[in-house]
Amino acid sequence: MNIDFSKMNGLIPAIVQDAVSGKVLMQGYMNEEALEKTKESGMVTFFSRSKNRLWTKGETSGNFLELVSIAGDCDGDSILVKANPRGPVCHTGSDTCWDEENSSKTGFIDQLRAIIKDRKNNPSDKSYTASLFAKGINKVAQKVGEEAVEIVIEAKDDNKELFLGEAADLLFHYLVLLEAKGYELDEVMQVLIERHSKKS
Ligand SMILES: [Zn+2]
Repeated sequence: MNIDFSKMNGLIPAIVQDAVSGKVLMQGYMNEEALEKTKESGMVTFFSRSKNRLWTKGETSGNFLELVSIAGDCDGDSILVKANPRGPVCHTGSDTCWDEENSSKTGFIDQLRAIIKDRKNNPSDKSYTASLFAKGINKVAQKVGEEAVEIVIEAKDDNKELFLGEAADLLFHYLVLLEAKGYELDEVMQVLIERHSKKS
């Protein structure tokens, strides 16, 4: 990562994005020390201009921002921090500093896809996902079929917990099947986008 702290008098704007939902949560400033402390501690730390010192977000409220990744922008004068918030981010009690709700968890699918890809490329004995890939495409496809039948059975009943459990199993094994076939979820989305644009 190439950040040029000299460019902006030592303080670089840091934009914090929810690593799962993609929502922009807040913006602060980092000096070099704040960036180092963020990497070291795993908790997002800024340089507070009003306090005139390093400030770890959540140090008084407990609503820390757990670091997921840090990236510099194209010309090294802005930082994008991806994080998991441990609570509301804004001092007003709002989820974001723009008073937006941050409840969507669907972005977790991208993290899950990355984990599944990693299990395929770096298999370990302990991983259930890796064991599926090892058994081959027929077994993975069969598993999707079994999970599909199980969700059909639960759909006829009225047990929320069991239904959601089967829905999660089906989605997970569906993603494993896509990965086993070497396709991306984006390619499926492209099909849906094209179908949608034909209709409207
Ligand atoms: Zn705020």
